[in-house]
Amino acid sequence: MEINDQKEHFQENQSEHTEKWRGDDNKALTDIAREFRDFKIEDRLEKMRGLPSKFETREEFERDWAKKSSCPIPTGLEGFTDERATEAANISIEKPYIVPHVNMHERLHQASDLGFKSEQPRALKEGLTEALTEKITGTKYLDEKANPQFYPEATILAEGLLAKAGPGAVEKLYVRNDASELKKALGGDAQYEAMLNEFKKLNKLQENRGLS
Ligand SMILES: [Zn+2]
Repeated sequence: MEINDQKEHFQENQSEHTEKWRGDDNKALTDIAREFRDFKIEDRLEKMRGLPSKFETREEFERDWAKKSSCPIPTGLEGFTDERATEAANISIEKPYIVPHVNMHERLHQASDLGFKSEQPRALKEGLTEALTEKITGTKYLDEKANPQFYPEATILAEGLLAKAGPGAVEKLYVRNDASELKKALGGDAQYEAMLNEFKKLNKLQENRGLS
């Protein structure tokens, strides 16, 4: 299909798309529950079920960003959610093919522990969120030039960390803010601090207070 045909096709079928994304959003919660089943996050998931994601035109999306943030909207941003997860995530539908991926990313931010989100370097939060999104959805956007909004550098670093730490250790930090298993897996406190410093070095990611 040509791009223009795709656009028309999309406009005709927008409500159908929205229906499908709502289904994807439900499935995202089931997938997240399965991914973190060992870490008792049922209460958090229950809250998230009450906050279905908002699938918005670019105009609506940018208007909602302006309501919640005094910063200009970051270039290429496709989704955001408040770190306290008290409101639904906002997802731009401008690029329909990436909507389920973006939604999974925002839903994972919501599932992640609030202490983890407030204490850790932004590159670790974004890198891990995106690496876990890739793992669950099977879609990857690791080209720095084409997809800077998916934090490719931080994601690649986080993929390495997940592989090195083995099953569960990083996940326990992500959803329980408990670094004990990860410290053990990496060889101790010093190695854990060194890992955090690797992420802090990716300082291209400025803090984005409260929204991610
Ligand atoms: Zn994010």
